[in-house]
Amino acid sequence: MALRRFDIQLAIPTAIYDAIPLAKKIAARDAIRDLKALAVKINEGLPNEEMTVKATYHICKHDEGKPCEPGQEI
Ligand SMILES: [Zn+2]
Repeated sequence: MALRRFDIQLAIPTAIYDAIPLAKKIAARDAIRDLKALAVKINEGLPNEEMTVKATYHICKHDEGKPCEPGQEI
């Protein structure tokens, strides 16, 4: 069984993110949640299980050389 697997990392500058209308942010969040609900762990229960049901968000400060804020599941 093949899968459609997404690996997405999007680091959006805060000023640009903040300018996105709230309804658009919520729609994006909901779309991610809908896809996440369909996802499965690859080889679940086996030694080679992969965590492929994961979508997280955090405020990242790597560009400032500082630690990131705690992440949260989407
Ligand atoms: Zn980070």
